[in-house]
Amino acid sequence: MSAHPHGCTCFIIPPKMLRTLAEQTADASERDCLLDAAEISAHLRGQRSVAPVVLGITAGVRDEKSRHVYDAQSKSTLPGKLARGEGGKPVTDNAVNQAYDGAGATYDFYREVLQRHSIDGKGLRIDSTVHYQTRFNNAFWNGQQMVYGDGDGKLFLGFTGALDVIAHELTHGVTQYAVPGGLVYEDQSGALNESISDVFGCVAKQWTLKQNVEQADWLIGAGILAPSVGKALRSMADPGNQALTWSGDDQPKTMAGYLEHGDVHTNSGIPNHAFYAAAIALKGNAWDKAAPIWYKALGLLTPNATFADMARATAESAALLYGAGSPERRAVQAAWKLVGVT
Ligand SMILES: [Zn+2]
Repeated sequence: MSAHPHGCTCFIIPPKMLRTLAEQTADASERDCLLDAAEISAHLRGQRSVAPVVLGITAGVRDEKSRHVYDAQSKSTLPGKLARGEGGKPVTDNAVNQAYDGAGATYDFYREVLQRHSIDGKGLRIDSTVHYQTRFNNAFWNGQQMVYGDGDGKLFLGFTGALDVIAHELTHGVTQYAVPGGLVYEDQSGALNESISDVFGCVAKQWTLKQNVEQADWLIGAGILAPSVGKALRSMADPGNQALTWSGDDQPKTMAGYLEHGDVHTNSGIPNHAFYAAAIALKGNAWDKAAPIWYKALGLLTPNATFADMARATAESAALLYGAGSPERRAVQAAWKLVGVT
């Protein structure tokens, strides 16, 4: 069995954001809640994550959804108690149903738009755990499954209701398998890893809502923050525009603002904006051309890929899909030039 050494434990809320909010809050219990989440997130991120061990017969591709949602019952043991399996009726616990539906919508997006069978491309079952710990302010992919906290209800309103958040996290799983050897979760390859999750998280939401590139809000995490914190985590249309996101948004939009050794969630603004620019130039729906071009590029990357490598890979995949002299390839090249990568 091939190893996937560069899977990640990847959180939707960067520990840095949790610490920033902790500094700003006057409520001691709220501050503890934020700092606990930051500490737990940093601790878990340091653990080695491994790809799932697939037991039994692995030959062939299973072309059906297989979702299992578990309840951690406010503890940290994974996966917890099974709350709803594939085909099971909705239960009274809304978080369970939201995690189930979000995993389903993400699966459908990959299956119908990109012809990919689940996270590993072979029909891997999608496991999710809800109610992880108490008032836990984060959601993450741990290399094997999705895990959701409930949020504190004051600053973070919950994570299971936002499809882009769910698709973002599950895409970390896709990247782990689709990029040969995975993408190292630091520096430019880490920022690319984050950006790829934002790209497909955002497009999965647009596809589900049937929004074209003009109608879409291009925000990541809209709806998970209390209005006192902000409107979203990030904007692909205008990275770093705090009026659209929140007061600590420090994402650069172009290489002029690139932060040497910056957080992977920060420099990801640059490739995010390149995708946005390409999608806008290609018009219509982002899932028709831009997303397939980005998706095909994943197979052309290596674990330490840089932004320039992604620019080359997307130009190459546009050429493979539409022709070397195609307007699609030129639009992709122009987008990377716009953000200063090429
Ligand atoms: Zn992420």
